[in-house]
Amino acid sequence: MPIYSGSCFCRNIEYKLHLDSPNEARTSLCHCRNCRKAFGTNYGLTAKVPKDAFHLTTGKPKVHAADNGSGVMIYREFCDNCGSYILEYGELAKDHFRYICVGSLDDLEALPPKGEFFCKSRASWMPEVPNVFHKQTVKE
Ligand SMILES: [Zn+2]
Ligand SMILES: [Zn+2]
Repeated sequence: MPIYSGSCFCRNIEYKLHLDSPNEARTSLCHCRNCRKAFGTNYGLTAKVPKDAFHLTTGKPKVHAADNGSGVMIYREFCDNCGSYILEYGELAKDHFRYICVGSLDDLEALPPKGEFFCKSRASWMPEVPNVFHKQTVKE
């Protein structure tokens, strides 16, 4: 059973992911406006994992909850000391999944992307990631 470790920048928050295999995680880029704003970059990069795979080992993130723009609450957890973004989950996924910010993992190569969402909002200068799925929004 692979175990992946991660933390915020200042390490006040540390966590471990317990997965049955790396394939249990679905890492994806998202080019939507919400991700851009939340990550402070031109896309978000998260690994979807089962809720029970995520184990906080040090500290406790601050939670920010807001309407995602379509009436669904989205929860974002981050370090209240250094500001690093750790994970997110929507109201519907709340009891089942966590979306881990991949940059917070100690091994950046551990969970490579399987796809891209909201490609219609991709920055014009950013090339597609090859050999992964590409969806214009979430569903399509
Ligand atoms: Zn921190
Ligand atoms: Zn997004």
